[in-house]
Amino acid sequence: MANSIQAPRASKKVSKVELLLVEDNEDHAELFTLAARSFSTTRITRANNLTDALQIARTKKVELAILDLGLPETVGLDTLSLFLDSCPSVPVVVLTAISDLNLGEEALKLGAMDFLSKEEITPRTLLRSIRYALERWTQKCKLEDSLADLQYFGSMAAHDLVSPLDAIQGFAQLIELELSKGQSTQEAWECLDLLKKSAHRSITLVGDLHKLSSLGRKSIERLEIRPTSLVSEVCSSLAELIKDTKGTVEASEMPAVRGDPGLMHHVLQNLIGNGLKYSRDGVDPVVRVSSSREDGLTVICVEDNGIGIDDKESNRIFLPFERLADSQGKTGTGLGLSICKKIIEAHGGEIWIESTKGEGTRFYFHLDC
Ligand code: ADP
Repeated sequence: MANSIQAPRASKKVSKVELLLVEDNEDHAELFTLAARSFSTTRITRANNLTDALQIARTKKVELAILDLGLPETVGLDTLSLFLDSCPSVPVVVLTAISDLNLGEEALKLGAMDFLSKEEITPRTLLRSIRYALERWTQKCKLEDSLADLQYFGSMAAHDLVSPLDAIQGFAQLIELELSKGQSTQEAWECLDLLKKSAHRSITLVGDLHKLSSLGRKSIERLEIRPTSLVSEVCSSLAELIKDTKGTVEASEMPAVRGDPGLMHHVLQNLIGNGLKYSRDGVDPVVRVSSSREDGLTVICVEDNGIGIDDKESNRIFLPFERLADSQGKTGTGLGLSICKKIIEAHGGEIWIESTKGEGTRFYFHLDC
């Protein structure tokens, strides 16, 4: 199929940490380089003024900057502010004099990951500081991502929860009006039916939201799972949908994987359910589940012959509440795939798609077990 969106593969090779040393004093730079040379996990690029440092940080790969606060163009916390403003995606450890511990603490408040007094630089203190700063940076980025997710999620949840409730209120008022006419009319029955559908949608939405929010807190079980048997169980849960859509679900013999059986049931149910739901007019849906070995991992594929997904929508579908234009008329909350992605990532795995619009879609995932 065309439009292949490959999952990024984590490199197993341990690469060196690219350090940028910003230090104008030759003796201090030498001292630092000697200390860093005693461990082999870093590669150092040196700049002896802020202008060169910013140029390097913008154009080359820099994973950590070690920044002396006293440079030819600027001194003290101004140096740090200028660096952070220009290169917000580079973590910084500042170099201070031993008499400047307060300055170090102020630098932390401003956004530095750590501070190191020049007089105390030894291979051990340097390595500790580099490791500490990189770990602190990773945690900071994770926290910022979670906060951004939470804000996005909160505003979408508020919007999507309110719309079916608005509809319920509207239909209730119409029913009231019809009944006030003294007899239960056809319109009232129709409104009641729509009201029940809106209520059902709110209940599903709240259930999905709960599932998504509780995932972070749930500890993942790592049990042996036989995907082929799991597909049979999922088919029992989806019996009504299979019947309604005149669909077929086929599963090849797949090797066992390790993961959380309840959560994996949920993933397969969502992917197979979508394969049945997003079918082409006049084409009975066929969903096939199979597996392959790639880079020592078992990759599971859920393939359908449905409407397909446009290349440019391939990432959007994994975001909460995102539904594509051609999903109109099909029931759903837009949360299924974002829950699948969270579950797979909680297992240390990845999920991605290959699709051709108008022909079908393949969802691939693997677990890191
Ligand atoms: P829902 O199905 O509840 O809308 P999902 O998160 O499961 O939510 O899917 C998000 C959107 O991605 C769907 O609304 C649909 O537009 C699209 N989609 C998901 N699975 C498929 C598929 N197998 N084929 C085509 N489109 C799909």
